[in-house]
Amino acid sequence: MAFLNDNYLKLQAGYLFPEIARRVREFCEANPEAARHLIRCGIGDVTEPLPPAVIAAMHHAVDELSVRETFRGYGHEQGLESLREKIAQEDYRDRGVDLAPDEIFISEGSKSDCGYILDVLGEQNKIAITDPVYPVYVDTNVMVGHAGDVNESGRYKGITYLPCRAENGFVPEPPAEPVDIIYLCFPNNPTGAVASRAQLTRWVEFARANEAIILFDAAYEAYISDPDVPHSIFEIPGARECAVEFRSFSKNGGFTGVRCGFTVMPKSLHARTADRRKLPLHPLWHRRWSTKANSVSYPVQRGAEAVYTEEGREQVRSLIDHYMGNARILREAVERARLEVYGGVNAPYIWVKTPSGLTSWQMFDRMLQELNVVITPGSGFGSCGEGFFRISAFNSRENAEEVARRLQTLAAL
Ligand SMILES: *Cc1c(COP(=O)(O)O)cnc(C)c1O
Repeated sequence: MAFLNDNYLKLQAGYLFPEIARRVREFCEANPEAARHLIRCGIGDVTEPLPPAVIAAMHHAVDELSVRETFRGYGHEQGLESLREKIAQEDYRDRGVDLAPDEIFISEGSKSDCGYILDVLGEQNKIAITDPVYPVYVDTNVMVGHAGDVNESGRYKGITYLPCRAENGFVPEPPAEPVDIIYLCFPNNPTGAVASRAQLTRWVEFARANEAIILFDAAYEAYISDPDVPHSIFEIPGARECAVEFRSFSKNGGFTGVRCGFTVMPKSLHARTADRRKLPLHPLWHRRWSTKANSVSYPVQRGAEAVYTEEGREQVRSLIDHYMGNARILREAVERARLEVYGGVNAPYIWVKTPSGLTSWQMFDRMLQELNVVITPGSGFGSCGEGFFRISAFNSRENAEEVARRLQTLAAL
């Protein structure tokens, strides 16, 4: 008899996006006229095409594979050396962070890495996760058995939730009780918040004092405009001894469909064996990759490398300027509608308090029915997201401007 992984049965039905789709579908069926004007600001996916430098590099790589002289088979298991060298230099050393190319592991995206990392971490670990949060961190822990049963508000037993509220600027302080693994994501999805150097320093100090590990998701690093905000956890002294960083080409280069990201696993990061010996994690992570994978498609890695060329950089910059231009338009429109608004300055997400005590889903319905705009209910990201909604700036300029116009009619209601 074969047994399944019972942990999967603890997962709450992927409720958020299917429920959004259901409500939108019903609305559109009942209101075919309004459906024609529907604008989606719900999904956290890019909308603009890939930078031309990336396309050219990928074409070139495919051509290389077509002739014997330049053909390539299996590559380095950690990813293309030239790509890792550029990442180490331009994303890290140029920012004063000491990092070697063999501390970088290229992957098919940071969503995958967030799950894979659990392969090399012990089951005894006490996990801390922010609330609201990118659902992947919670669900991957549930899948491997790090969580108990779920309560009415959707929280799992055994996980420490770190509330992110307006009062703490959506950046939690370290908890009073010790935890072993901490997930942090800044700039944040869904709140758009960023963590200051001082706040990240307190987390690094907490992690070092507790021998904990911070799993830092920096997928939106390229959206930071404030010069004082750290782009990497490794800008904080001591982080090399207590952190892993996830990065992605999805939101800077527009690789959500192409798939490429990377993990930074410092060689100086250690964890304990069950019998309390202290060992580095890097060899385990390397073993994990060389055993379970063969890195990432060659043309994709060449495409990622093109992000570091001069044209690539300029083209990525203009993509981000485009999305952040949308974010400004949307944020200002929400302010004019006299709603309480957060984010949208160093991140492509605008996090808005629902007016007059509406729940997130009530606000969702109202935005859908009255403005024909699809947003994401904050409660879908965790119980502390209740009473908020997220507007994504990933859209065309035309759509962002139209949503801004429609938001003005909300003020009158
Ligand atoms: C979009 C996103 C990512 C990137 O995921 P990929 O798998 O690289 O596409 C990672 N973390 C967060 C919080 C995100 O929103």
